Amino acid sequence: MKIDINLKDESRNYTVFINELRELKFDTKVAVITNPKVAGLHLNSLLENLECKEKFIISVPDGEEYKNLGTIEQILEELFTSKLDRSSVIIAFGGGVISDMAGFAASIYQRGIKFINIPTTLLAQVDASVGGKTGVNNKFGKNLIGSFYQPRAVYCESKFLKTLPRREFAAGVAEAIKMAVMFDKDMFEWLEGANLKDEANLQQLIYKSVLLKAKAVEADELEKGARAVLNYGHTFAHVIENETEYKKFLHGEAVAIGMNMANALAVKLGLLSSEEKGRVENLLLKFNLPTRYSVANVDSFYEAFFLDKKSENSVIKFILPKGIGGYEMRKDINKDIVMEILSEFR
Ligand code: NAD
Repeated sequence: MKIDINLKDESRNYTVFINELRELKFDTKVAVITNPKVAGLHLNSLLENLECKEKFIISVPDGEEYKNLGTIEQILEELFTSKLDRSSVIIAFGGGVISDMAGFAASIYQRGIKFINIPTTLLAQVDASVGGKTGVNNKFGKNLIGSFYQPRAVYCESKFLKTLPRREFAAGVAEAIKMAVMFDKDMFEWLEGANLKDEANLQQLIYKSVLLKAKAVEADELEKGARAVLNYGHTFAHVIENETEYKKFLHGEAVAIGMNMANALAVKLGLLSSEEKGRVENLLLKFNLPTRYSVANVDSFYEAFFLDKKSENSVIKFILPKGIGGYEMRKDINKDIVMEILSEFR
């Protein structure tokens, strides 16, 4: 299966291949950027299928806490030491942390060299590896440094997901549910009945999600408008992640809770019925995702919305479902209504 990504500048178009990776051939040098965990589990199987002039493995420490400029410096140093030139290729081999960093390094090394994404987490396959958002965190926040830089190809292989811990798998499902609620009622209904342990279903999940992500990216590559819909659940999730210091929940888990909170707001505003809200919550629970969070202090939770880099000019932007399969972007919601919803989560 494959999905073409068609951008305004056709020279940046590329294809996402799903379970199509047979062999990769290049007549240039290739650097594979990965981490020790992914390398230990899957690097051999990748290298067996990789033919090129010379290959280099760049292994960076595993974890969101290493997604920073220090690690980018390490990557650049190894690229220079290995004498990669402007015709060389970088392969990102890992989860979203690796694809964000490898893509960013590719975008700045000698003003930009080709990169290919081979995502190994479900979250990266359905979301992070497609769309060209690359970057790192710094002390001011997450993903504040980066670039829009599209890969030349993406290869999603469901075989890599077999070693993924259960919570990491569910965190990826959360991002897929997010896209279904926003854009695709049929996919939502399919997910309600789907067993994702079935290989064919898992492949379908990746295909359907990438298709939706592709449409959002094609409509708005630089996230000036419509692509922001993918941030459904994230306004709440970012506050939850901050309050719990990124320790208690995986990102996808925080997004699951955030969706449930956004849905409560949508019900209050008459955009979603209580029954629909219940269906979304049941779907999240079906995949062992959390949907509840105890808001300790509603005032500080509300104030924290304004720290989000996506709240422009002190206006909070809520992405809300309009029924299942539709959305509304709202910047006009009265503080009292939001506080009422937060109180329900105390
Ligand atoms: P991650 O990259 O940290 O991977 C999660 C864990 O799984 C890591 O410990 C990793 O080493 C391990 N792992 C990876 N593949 C594995 C496998 N096959 N088997 C066993 N373990 C494996 O996290 P993630 O959830 O993949 O990605 C989260 C990151 O993605 C965040 O930094 C987020 O900002 C970013 N992101 C980016 C975009 C985008 O559009 N660029 C979108 C969503 C998320």
